[in-house]
Amino acid sequence: MAVFVRWTASSLSSLVFFSSPNASSRLSLPCQSFSRFPLHRPFATRPPLHQESGDPASSKLLLKGMEFPELEKWVQSQGFRSGQALMLWKCLYGNNSWAQSHDELAGLNKDFRKMLTENASLKALSVKDVLTASDGTRKILFTLEDGSVIETVVIPCSRGRTTVCVSSQVGCAMNCQFCYTGRMGLRKHLSTAEIVEQAVFARRFFSSEFGSISNVVFMGMGEPLHNIDNVLKASAIMVDEQGLHFSPRKVTVSTSGLVPQLKRFLRESACALAVSLNATTDEVRNWIMPINRKYNLNLLLQTLREELPTKHKYKVLFEYVMLAGVNDSMEDAKRLIELVRGIPCKINLISFNPHSGTRFKPTPDEKMIRFRNVLAEAGVVVFLRLSRGDDQMAACGQLGKPGDIQAPLLRVPEQFQMVV
Ligand code: SF4
Repeated sequence: MAVFVRWTASSLSSLVFFSSPNASSRLSLPCQSFSRFPLHRPFATRPPLHQESGDPASSKLLLKGMEFPELEKWVQSQGFRSGQALMLWKCLYGNNSWAQSHDELAGLNKDFRKMLTENASLKALSVKDVLTASDGTRKILFTLEDGSVIETVVIPCSRGRTTVCVSSQVGCAMNCQFCYTGRMGLRKHLSTAEIVEQAVFARRFFSSEFGSISNVVFMGMGEPLHNIDNVLKASAIMVDEQGLHFSPRKVTVSTSGLVPQLKRFLRESACALAVSLNATTDEVRNWIMPINRKYNLNLLLQTLREELPTKHKYKVLFEYVMLAGVNDSMEDAKRLIELVRGIPCKINLISFNPHSGTRFKPTPDEKMIRFRNVLAEAGVVVFLRLSRGDDQMAACGQLGKPGDIQAPLLRVPEQFQMVV
């Protein structure tokens, strides 16, 4: 039976992470109504750094939306030294302080603090709820300024590698057929500050309980590379050595296969890449991951073949969610070996987490093991990934709340109609 613990807003208010009644309005991004395609319509991926309150005089700068050089320049433009900017940066991200309010900016000079109180805001999210699954995984629900809710998952590991799984969008446009978030359609992109703050919160609230939060995965709600500007900036803030200082190899951005953005990511970021593969033929992938109709398997894998050798000791992680009767045959295993040949990679075989309304079923464990063994015998580096947090809908593919208007389910190819 699942252990169920819920922290309410009032029990967490001492963490100064909730909206105070006097809090000024925060950043609001333009909203994109749901659309499954096209995937690349023009979108404001670089939101303004200032919060919008309707009153220009009260608009405040969102500090977590800036990388350090930007912050330093702004601090200097306000008449303060760059050393003050560094102290502020360390208050926000380092020294176990993770400040969320102006009262917590200890050690900063009085005039500098006054200027910050008048002109800048330290937080972009408010905690709505925290749920605990029986395996210790936590799901945090954050409310954005416009009332949208996003989900972040903290996954403790007995080997001391606690991971925070962050969201990059409200909903997702990709409509992967096995994914609960995909049912929502895309509501909007998250700002840099809204992404960074999820990792800051995980460190601030869970470090004492779990020890170091050492890993970040962009595998929450959304297709990170559909919001690439903000994701690149947020991941750069996360790996800054004077701040949160995550190792770039421990910050993993996952994509369903947006090829142009994937190329840009590999060229501009030192962080790790995961590609959600999930099929070994275009026919199946076109159905369960419609992005494949735009960037097919051959293009996706050839791009990786060409781009990865330019990076030093870099391996892509392929994720493969196993769906009973759809992508889990031994023929699939053999095709998978051929598909990844020549690509420096490892493969995670992931147990499917059912959610309400899904047509798919998980592959039985024994079959997953047989599938794993076929890959391993061919020399592929392969891991089996057990589901974490599924009793609180905190597992992979289970985040979000689709609501009344849902993305359409696609036509099931004839040969799979018996299995779904
Ligand atoms: S699996 Fe990822 S890319 Fe696909 S719909 Fe879900 S959140 Fe979007």
